[in-house]
Amino acid sequence: MLLIDCPYCGPRSEIEFRCGGESHVQRPGPHDAASDEQWADYLFYRHNPKGEHRERWLHMAGCGQWFNVARDTVTHKITAIYRMGETIDAGAGS
Ligand SMILES: [Zn+2]
Repeated sequence: MLLIDCPYCGPRSEIEFRCGGESHVQRPGPHDAASDEQWADYLFYRHNPKGEHRERWLHMAGCGQWFNVARDTVTHKITAIYRMGETIDAGAGS
């Protein structure tokens, strides 16, 4: 069981959260200039690394806020938690 340090509420059990998948996915644009391949990549393909992965998490049983987590997919160790709009350097250790 993970202990996730919500940047708004503090440490809480994993069962209060929902993972929203990969974070920092950039929408191609402008929309009329993006190719079908770029749209398919944006809509359907996500990275699945062995190691550090940046993810969006929702504190659904708490504050209801989305935030970012840098988590190792092998060990599940969380190395950084940061709010939406922050960079990993600004939010590391928070
Ligand atoms: Zn929270």
